[in-house]
Amino acid sequence: MLEPLIYELSTPGRPGHRFPDPDVPLADLPEGMIRQDLMLPELSELEVVRHFVRLSQLNHAIDTGFYPLGSCSMKYNPKVNEDAARLPGFAHSHPLQDPSTQQGSLAVMYSLQDWLKEVGGFAGISLQPAAGAHGELSGILMIRAYHRDRGQPQRNKILVPDSAHGTNPATTTMSGLRVVELPSDARGNVDLEALRAECDETLAGLMLTNPNTLGLFEERVQEVVRLVHDNGGLVYGDGANMNALLGVVRPGDLGFDVLHFNLHKTFSTPHGGGGPGAGPVGVRDLLVDYLPGPVAAELEPESEALPPLYGLVMPTKSIGRVKAFHGHFGMHVRAYAFIRSHGKPGMRAIAEHAVLNANYLLAGLRQSYRVPFDRRCMHEFVAEGRFEGVPEIHALDVSKRLMDYGFHPPTNYFPLIVREALMIEPTETESKPTLDAFIEAMKAIAEEAHSEPELLKGAPHGTPFGRLDEVQAAKQLVLCCRPAELERAAL
Ligand SMILES: *Cc1c(COP(=O)(O)O)cnc(C)c1O
Repeated sequence: MLEPLIYELSTPGRPGHRFPDPDVPLADLPEGMIRQDLMLPELSELEVVRHFVRLSQLNHAIDTGFYPLGSCSMKYNPKVNEDAARLPGFAHSHPLQDPSTQQGSLAVMYSLQDWLKEVGGFAGISLQPAAGAHGELSGILMIRAYHRDRGQPQRNKILVPDSAHGTNPATTTMSGLRVVELPSDARGNVDLEALRAECDETLAGLMLTNPNTLGLFEERVQEVVRLVHDNGGLVYGDGANMNALLGVVRPGDLGFDVLHFNLHKTFSTPHGGGGPGAGPVGVRDLLVDYLPGPVAAELEPESEALPPLYGLVMPTKSIGRVKAFHGHFGMHVRAYAFIRSHGKPGMRAIAEHAVLNANYLLAGLRQSYRVPFDRRCMHEFVAEGRFEGVPEIHALDVSKRLMDYGFHPPTNYFPLIVREALMIEPTETESKPTLDAFIEAMKAIAEEAHSEPELLKGAPHGTPFGRLDEVQAAKQLVLCCRPAELERAAL
């Protein structure tokens, strides 16, 4: 049962606030500025605290339970990151301050760029983009600018595998280029024949996610990259799945020309309602001058006796600014804190444990769920939420039932090339007991699908709200909270 809403708890004359004594002379407000019709609730401080803390607990969160949302890397967000981001020198700095007073902030940005260069095998980094999709847009605009600069504007075709995230074709279209979809082969790799057939003088590039959204390492990645390069194209890496590669494989070494990092996935900055994202892009030599800017740089100090000076510079052929000021600086600090608290050997351990955890789950679940591309997986895998003999049960029913077992559902219906897809990513931060509990819950649900399918169809049963009409909830959002308005909206 839902607790009463804050407006129902209101008691006239019960104040929850106290204004400090004024330190300026009192004056009357002008006539038309006083409103009597706001009907603000009147509650004590304690009632307000309980109301909002209760609301905060109605949602599932990484701090309250396992969150195996595939492709999203819902790993633990260490609280030391938050401490770092709240240091007054970072939290209270203003982007319009003179750079001489921002040296610490600029040094963090510069060092983070350096770390991402090292992790990705790149020559340059821009921290400007605000999300993965925004990094994609920046990267494809760089590829477009590169071809135009070389007098080849006819190169306007971007190849996108059919397993790609929807942001890949959307980015291409927004950049004014043409999308051509590439099929996957029977092992879940890019179909090389199809790729070869598209290699012509209109090829601008290929967007490749590696490991791909099936959680599989592209087995002939070097051949794919060579084919694109030999035909004058560039390779864009969708780095959302970098968690599988940290410290093991560097995309720049594989020949990727540009790649975005999702700081909110791989580098533990909060997401899913927890904060803004950040999608820095890394590039090889040939694209360094095109990076969105400004980027943090080490400047010549006025004398050799002085420490290095940090500033912001615009790359010479930059595609321009893609974000106001310094990008999402608070996220840069958190990601930097995360990287520094793990160090270089720690990066590799992250990837190794992420891959181990995913393979452990896969081994525990492949008896109960169909796994269409059943190879050694990387940091995630895709199973099917459908069962022989019970056609009415869909992936969504499995996911909703999982909520009754206290787990956040996996990603549903993505990638599009798997029927009733359940994309499961445990991340490195989960313990073996948690993984075991998840396997047990998934197995129990697979049994229920046969023995008591109505249990799945009606799920979730134990949440504050039951199954919602997700289409209506998105299309007819009701944001009022006074009982009378709610009643009217429900009509
Ligand atoms: C998350 C994701 C993106 C988009 O990143 P955002 O930060 O959500 O914009 C792109 N590709 C893949 C494979 C992803 O998982």
